Amino acid sequence: MSQCIFCKIGKKEIPAQIVLESKDFIAFYDINPVSKGHTLVIPKKHIKDFSELVTKEADFIKKYLEFIEEVRQVLKEKYNPRGIRVTFNTDGLIEVHHVHCHLIPVYRH
Ligand code: AMP
Ligand code: ZN
Repeated sequence: MSQCIFCKIGKKEIPAQIVLESKDFIAFYDINPVSKGHTLVIPKKHIKDFSELVTKEADFIKKYLEFIEEVRQVLKEKYNPRGIRVTFNTDGLIEVHHVHCHLIPVYRH
């Protein structure tokens, strides 16, 4: 989708602070982080939301989950949080209509 901001990040048409990248996926820091290290993980191809994602081939979904896990390990190593929330917002909670997984580190007090 030509107007989609996350498609543009995937194509490097607009800048992002990239955490990790592969041929099909890219992880970058959220511009408005809820905690230190808050990262978004997206497929480079446009998929509008979680419901559309589950219609894709099992192999693609597995690769996406494996990439998310790789990014999670990078964040775990770098920030040493208590844990990392892995979430997909849906329906009325979505601001950007290109599927993205939030990785949100949670810290010890
Ligand atoms: P949501 O669609 O509600 O799951 O959230 C969209 C998320 O994308 C928010 O946390 C925003 O801060 C984040 N966001 C929006 N535009 C950008 C951008 N250009 N670079 C990084 N993060 C962004
Ligand atoms: Zn898109």
